[in-house]
Amino acid sequence: AKSSFSEHICYYEAGMDESARHRRQLANDLRQAIARDEFEVLYQPQRSLRTNEVSGYEALLRWHHPRLGTISPSEFIPIAEETGEIIRIGEWVLRAACAEVVTWPGKDKIAVNLSPVQLLQADLPEVVTAILHEVGMSPQRLELEITETAIIADKTRALHSLRRIKALGVSVAMDDFGTGYSSLDTLHSFPFDKIKIDKSFLLESRESDQARAIIRAVLALGHSLGIPVLAEGVETHEQLQLLLGEGCDEAQGYYFGRPGPPPPGVGRALAVNA
Ligand code: C2E
Ligand code: CA
Ligand code: CA
Ligand code: CA
Repeated sequence: AKSSFSEHICYYEAGMDESARHRRQLANDLRQAIARDEFEVLYQPQRSLRTNEVSGYEALLRWHHPRLGTISPSEFIPIAEETGEIIRIGEWVLRAACAEVVTWPGKDKIAVNLSPVQLLQADLPEVVTAILHEVGMSPQRLELEITETAIIADKTRALHSLRRIKALGVSVAMDDFGTGYSSLDTLHSFPFDKIKIDKSFLLESRESDQARAIIRAVLALGHSLGIPVLAEGVETHEQLQLLLGEGCDEAQGYYFGRPGPPPPGVGRALAVNA
């Protein structure tokens, strides 16, 4: 039985497809990425549609792999979540973004994405507190972006963790709103400071009246609950007009600036389409 088992393993390894091999390679390489200084945080502006001013920046992680080039977070974050490496990576991003932002002029907010795995760590509030203290940043300048899947995984623990984070004075945004399945229930259970409408709705808004109807409904919902709404994925003037017409509070997208290196807003980020 023992030999047939190892034969099976060998067969499996030999027959393992390219994508599984690639994932395993990335999982390995991710463990060294912080030590080898391969991560970079880019910043994308968020614009208030009320004042037309930058209201903050979202921190977006990039991995510069020595052989494979720049790898998208949509590819490596899920792998890091599977291996647990996301805990160290998430803490690194938070520290790097906060340390960078405090050196910029002005008091803009910084929004940092939080993995569900991080949210379920019991010591998350202590980690956040320690980093803010270490870099000397006011908690009011930090916003954490959380998707619904983070809350669905373990609602009681997630909401407990979110309440402790909010008690620090840090704000919390619901990310990718509309793509989960219990949005209304989640919104009802926790006082989010912002709702981010998933970019898929705006990107489809030209072709589909349904996408427009959803944007309109989310705005009505957010406003009836007193929660400001930000639309992601604004690429065109037409989409901006749609949002202005519907009374959207904030927007983010290539139209206002792509994610870029710091200092943002000074050069390329806001010059695009200004
Ligand atoms: P997300 O949080 O929904 O971030 C928005 C994504 O949309 C970013 O992709 C951004 O570059 C992209 N985007 C911004 N404006 C536009 C636009 O006008 N059009 C289009 N088509 N796309 C736009 P990015 O940087 O590749 O990140 C992908 C996802 O990876 C993020 O989605 C987030 O879920 C995750 N991610 C990125 N950085 C981190 C991080 O530090 N920690 C964690 N846990 N996740 C991260
Ligand atoms: Ca986000
Ligand atoms: Ca999003
Ligand atoms: Ca997303």
